[in-house]
Amino acid sequence: MIKATINNVKIEVPEGTSILWAAKKANVNIPTLCFHPDLKPGGQCGVCVVEIEGIPGLKRACMTPIGEGFRVYTHTQKVMSARKEIVEMILANHDSDCLTCIKNNNCELQTLAATLGIKIVEYAKLEEKLPIDHSSISIVRDPNKCILCGRCIQVCSDVQSVNALAVNHRGADTVIGTAFSAGLGNSVCINCGQCVVHCPVGALYENSSVEAVWEALHDPDKFVVVQEAPAVRAMLGEEFGMPPGSLVTGKMYAALRRLGFDAVMDTNFSADLTIIEEGTELVSRLKSGKNLPLITSCSPGWIKFMETFFHDMIPHMSTAKSPQQMFGALAKTYYAQVKNIDPAKIVSVSVMPCTAKKFECQRPEMKASGYQDVDYVLTTREIGRMIREAGIDLKEMPEELADDIMGEYTGAGTIFGATGGVMEAAIRSAYFLVTGRELENLDIKPVRGLKGIKEAEIDIDGTKVKVAVAHSGAQARELLEKVQNQMATDGKCEYQFIEVMACPGGCVGGGGQSWGSNMAKRARRGEALYAEDKSMAHRRSHENRSVQAVYEKFLEKPNSKKAHELLHTHYMKRSLVDGKVINE
Ligand code: SF4
Ligand code: SF4
Ligand code: SF4
Repeated sequence: MIKATINNVKIEVPEGTSILWAAKKANVNIPTLCFHPDLKPGGQCGVCVVEIEGIPGLKRACMTPIGEGFRVYTHTQKVMSARKEIVEMILANHDSDCLTCIKNNNCELQTLAATLGIKIVEYAKLEEKLPIDHSSISIVRDPNKCILCGRCIQVCSDVQSVNALAVNHRGADTVIGTAFSAGLGNSVCINCGQCVVHCPVGALYENSSVEAVWEALHDPDKFVVVQEAPAVRAMLGEEFGMPPGSLVTGKMYAALRRLGFDAVMDTNFSADLTIIEEGTELVSRLKSGKNLPLITSCSPGWIKFMETFFHDMIPHMSTAKSPQQMFGALAKTYYAQVKNIDPAKIVSVSVMPCTAKKFECQRPEMKASGYQDVDYVLTTREIGRMIREAGIDLKEMPEELADDIMGEYTGAGTIFGATGGVMEAAIRSAYFLVTGRELENLDIKPVRGLKGIKEAEIDIDGTKVKVAVAHSGAQARELLEKVQNQMATDGKCEYQFIEVMACPGGCVGGGGQSWGSNMAKRARRGEALYAEDKSMAHRRSHENRSVQAVYEKFLEKPNSKKAHELLHTHYMKRSLVDGKVINE
């Protein structure tokens, strides 16, 4: 342990602790713009400078370990004027049009400039405007707002193992960009949005569908249906000042109805349906022994990652569409038929914690209904903005239920939103599909939580099924490389079933979540989903009566020809050639 003082307050912290973390022991938050609690410190911004008695110059608190006997001062005159100067220099290079900026009121730079009392920027303002990158279906990049903090590069390379972004050029010309400046939409980017939720300013944001959805809601000739992903109910409250992990399912339905949606249903319904389709696929592959391990397919960021970096694993992928797309395919077929609505008049909207879902809904193969199955995807942030724009306070909403037909769900559908949840839900139903008996202990705890790659072994009537769960691109890469090595050596691998989610923590950590993401928030949102699961009368997907009704009235049986036409898909190989992604 190291003993030192910060602003004359005695502290004791483990050796190697940075001054930035040590200061928290003295109840001091040293300001910073590039530091993020889930990422390695890089010292890019220089805002966190402090003075250490007896050591010349100023030191960056994020990069300097506290030493024995250090006397650290965080707001001397020298520190304060240096800090102000750094922020002024950032502002001189910054398009500070806060009122029209996506991050207005949620921006770390705006907050810091206000905290430091910066009224005038003494430096000459950079007038040159760089082009905004609109090439991606999911994400917009505005280099004029970028403060070169490096968080996006680090999360994209270290956490996601995608490496779509890098520092281009040098000196005053430095910009963050993609290879050959081709734009995110022409890069290896998997649309996960982790760069978006880690960016401290308004330089990265989702490609918004808010205006298009308002237009549909205002059109009397349209019938607008909405579905909400499992994770959204555990994070939408944050948009209205509620603590992370507040479960707002009933209030969310009520707010959506008041926005004017004609039918408020739930993606959890189609999560249950996904489990029946994918669970049936798992049982059939376990019987045949072919194409094991089966790998889950509901995370569109993961699908693009697999198509780009691991396309030789395509035969192992479940062909089941994601719950979003299953819902979309049924909304314009089954739902339209039951409700006697012309499918051409249906506008299908989804509310997702995810930016990659915007890409997924526009994939050419997602037109099984004869129309684009899901027309618009709104992130949790976008629906939060719409609800606020309509003057609705989510906190004051009554608890309502979703509509029938495609609104009922079980606890298994809810836990889809957390890492390990798809696996747990699938096992609950696969056990029943194989044995005809119900699995008694429904809580498969080894696959829960935010630790790295998780494993479990389940005994299904004497058949041992070994499973693994990865959440983030880096974990997916590690797990898939292990699988490939085992298969190259032994012709088979130790796992029969693998769940991969592109985002850390699963969908509760998606790129469409409320601003200010960190692992602690993700953990609380996941706990909320498990709490809802625990509270439900039905916790197994095959117990969902509305899902049973779809099979009885429309799809005939799981994995039927019709189910395959509507609910299953195929994948493509993507390769990077001369800086451009080629789809095959
Ligand atoms: S990024 Fe922040 S400081 Fe810059 S314009 Fe947007 S809100 Fe204002
Ligand atoms: S969306 Fe994901 S893959 Fe694309 S640049 Fe951002 S972090 Fe990287
Ligand atoms: S885009 Fe955002 S996260 Fe990336 S370097 Fe710029 S300010 Fe930082």
